[in-house]
Amino acid sequence: MIISTDRGKRLSDFRIEPVTIPSDPGCPFCEGHEHMTPRELLARRRDGSGPNGPGWDLRVVPNQLPVLRVEGMLDRQGEGLFDKMNGIGAHEVIIETPKHDDTLATMSDAAVEQVLWAFRERMQDLKRDRRFRYIIVFKNHGKAAGSSLDHPHSQLIALPIIPREVRDEMEGARAHFASKERCVFCDVLSQEERDGRRVIADNGDMMAIAPYAPRFPFETWILPKRHQSLFEDAPRHEYASLARLLGDLLRRMNKMLLNPPYNLLIHSAPLNDAASDFYHWHMEIIPTLTKVAGFEWATGFYVNPTSPEEAAQVLRETRL
Ligand SMILES: [Zn+2]
Ligand SMILES: [Zn+2]
Ligand SMILES: [Zn+2]
Repeated sequence: MIISTDRGKRLSDFRIEPVTIPSDPGCPFCEGHEHMTPRELLARRRDGSGPNGPGWDLRVVPNQLPVLRVEGMLDRQGEGLFDKMNGIGAHEVIIETPKHDDTLATMSDAAVEQVLWAFRERMQDLKRDRRFRYIIVFKNHGKAAGSSLDHPHSQLIALPIIPREVRDEMEGARAHFASKERCVFCDVLSQEERDGRRVIADNGDMMAIAPYAPRFPFETWILPKRHQSLFEDAPRHEYASLARLLGDLLRRMNKMLLNPPYNLLIHSAPLNDAASDFYHWHMEIIPTLTKVAGFEWATGFYVNPTSPEEAAQVLRETRL
């Protein structure tokens, strides 16, 4: 990890492609276009509306759209996940709102909470299939972040393997637990709370921090302050708190970083592992501010032009 502030830390130096959402009469996710998607697996419906027609606030459908299958492969795991799935897997899309130009930053806290709740419900359902070892939940917001459809959506992929990035993170956490008998994420939370410089927001249940060694500028993690290894087992009030903190964070990023594209993902313990003492679920949000150049891919060193202390200060002090 190299933090190179002399490469230019002014926000105007970042290459940002602000996300705009043009209207699209042929959008398969808009209300009234339900016939363009497979039958829904889950929906939040307003009074009296029947399945697979209009009248919904959120829908989850199997992902059979070729463009999204490609988008799903653009994950950050870098190891050809689909090749390793041996035909076992589920790929679903969460259509977060019927409004084509809404975003997680403009939706109500209650609507964002419904999205998180849908993740939970689908994870609870899919984990009954014992062939699945892991469920990736992610969102690509904006074309520069890999999104191929503008309508607000996130995706979920159930896998028969544990992705490398999660395995690596778990190994580090396991080693920390072996020597200290404490969860490394709980240790990070209490250390960051004491230090304060890398804390972006703290609402009692959830804390948003700029991690100590970020790979990307303005990389942000949101963690529950109470130890919990599985996202899908969190108590209800934590989803409400996460929704509030996430909406607030995205509005700050939009103001300071000019509506940046971003990737969002949830890291949770593998399915059907007993609740773990050493792993702690969290959300990672990575705005797309610099293109990762050949140097980074080739060496594994990420050159990050903004220190986490600066990033946290900018976001913490943003007035909305
Ligand atoms: Zn749409
Ligand atoms: Zn913990
Ligand atoms: Zn993680």
